Amino acid sequence: MQTINAASDPLYLAIVGAGTMGRGIAQIAAQAGVQVRLFDAKAGAAAQGVKDLADTFERLAQKGKLDPQAAAAATARLQPVEALTDLAPCNVVVEAVVEDLAVKRRLFAELEETVRPDCVLATNTSSLSVTAIAAGLKHPQRVAGFHFFNPVPLMKIVEVVDGLLTEPSVGDFLLQLGRRFGHTAVRAKDTPGFIVNHAGRGYGTEALRLLAEGVAEFHQLDRILRDTAGFKLGPFELMDLTALDVSHPVMESIYHQYYEEPRFRPQPLTRQMLAAGLVGRKAGRGFYRYADGQAERFDEAPASPARPPRVWVSRRHEPGHRCVVALVRALGGTLDEGARPAADSLCIVTPLGHDATTCAAAEGLDARRTVALDTLFETGRRRVVMGTPLTSAETREQARGLFGADGVPVSVIRDSAGLVAPRVVATIVNIACEIAQQRIAAPADIDRAVTLGLGYPRGPLAWGDQLGAPTVLTVLEQLHGTTGDPRYRASPWLKRRAQLGVSLLTDEE
Ligand code: NAD
Repeated sequence: MQTINAASDPLYLAIVGAGTMGRGIAQIAAQAGVQVRLFDAKAGAAAQGVKDLADTFERLAQKGKLDPQAAAAATARLQPVEALTDLAPCNVVVEAVVEDLAVKRRLFAELEETVRPDCVLATNTSSLSVTAIAAGLKHPQRVAGFHFFNPVPLMKIVEVVDGLLTEPSVGDFLLQLGRRFGHTAVRAKDTPGFIVNHAGRGYGTEALRLLAEGVAEFHQLDRILRDTAGFKLGPFELMDLTALDVSHPVMESIYHQYYEEPRFRPQPLTRQMLAAGLVGRKAGRGFYRYADGQAERFDEAPASPARPPRVWVSRRHEPGHRCVVALVRALGGTLDEGARPAADSLCIVTPLGHDATTCAAAEGLDARRTVALDTLFETGRRRVVMGTPLTSAETREQARGLFGADGVPVSVIRDSAGLVAPRVVATIVNIACEIAQQRIAAPADIDRAVTLGLGYPRGPLAWGDQLGAPTVLTVLEQLHGTTGDPRYRASPWLKRRAQLGVSLLTDEE
């Protein structure tokens, strides 16, 4: 199919559906110099959309964020239309109507009868199959996904999705168009969740798994993941913000669309919360309770004055040993340098995917006096101490006192293979590796899409490289061994790159 160059002028874009997404797309298109026709099935909605956008441009100009002339020009490029047939001359149509397969299929069938033969038909669907939307059309090869995120002007990423029958030139055109809009455009195969909503499955589900295992309370898990892994929002804060009536069905849908893939398995808790109406911030209660828009606060336990008489540090994981020894010295603790711990020493282990119990057992340590410290993630903002089921209250208090001696908060958690952050991040890296392995998207596009679409501190593949692919693999293998849960089986992409000693971003010819 011969498609027009997305850089050409004038370029005519039609948007069907003048709701949240349609308006957002219209805004960035008009600002990028594209002529926009907006249509909505609801009478007057397109005109209202254009009026609201004109107000937006004016406000941006008043705030000095947009040149007044550019604002006026952008407004002039927006035209509301009241009939689908008014879209006939357009070069590309972007559909942003309700997320309903039958509605979208009917609309595309009508559009096919209306627009020019070389007009590209794009859908902003986030959860439906592009291939299914195009099925039954006379020319399914001109249909592709063009998936933006809300709010469109701020979320500078768009996924261009090739259906099974989409002609490559159609996706090429949409990539160019997305870039013309000033967005980062990435390309994905038509698969459930595309890139962003697929890669995003690890964070919430693994945090829910940790909660279900009783490793820590939800607010402790939020703090740990924010402070040690660098996530902007903890997983439970995020679920409360997104609202469970939106995120729980997505969790279930992706899980079922991948035929019950254990990596995406949701937890019963969110379904129950949904049934109880505890959907999140907008309902006044989700994981947290909200009053006047503020989440309830969970105060941290005050720093403990307790100190261990001496500290013995396991040498099984050399980098972990070095990290703890340096920390204990800096905190004024007394090191027990013996080959075996003295009778009154606090024993510190630094697991790599193991739980504290396994570490204590492997070295014949007294489990009552043993705790683990997470040394794989940031220890400057928070320290994570993990006990065995037998670790005494006195030992926990001594560890909390020692590791909090400089005022850094300490989280004390129950035993977990992979602690908290290593476990959650390894899960995220593994899912990204599997997306690359299934050739759903190129490795660099996976990282770009996740950083921009999910706001994670790093792209998952680069994050895996930073931790070291062999480390991520070990964490997953230990988790798999301890739990027996196929959720933690490592992707072949990760295994091969760990074995070869190369970056997780290494593609295969
Ligand atoms: P919305 O409810 O805000 O807007 C949908 C608009 O489409 C409404 O104005 C409605 O009147 C109109 N409409 C419905 N059926 C129509 C039809 N047959 N013909 C013309 N107009 C019709 O919805 P939204 O949030 O903008 O979502 C639109 C699409 O974008 C959906 O497919 C959704 O899954 C997808 N999406 C939404 C988000 C988001 O965060 N809101 C993010 C990414 C993708």
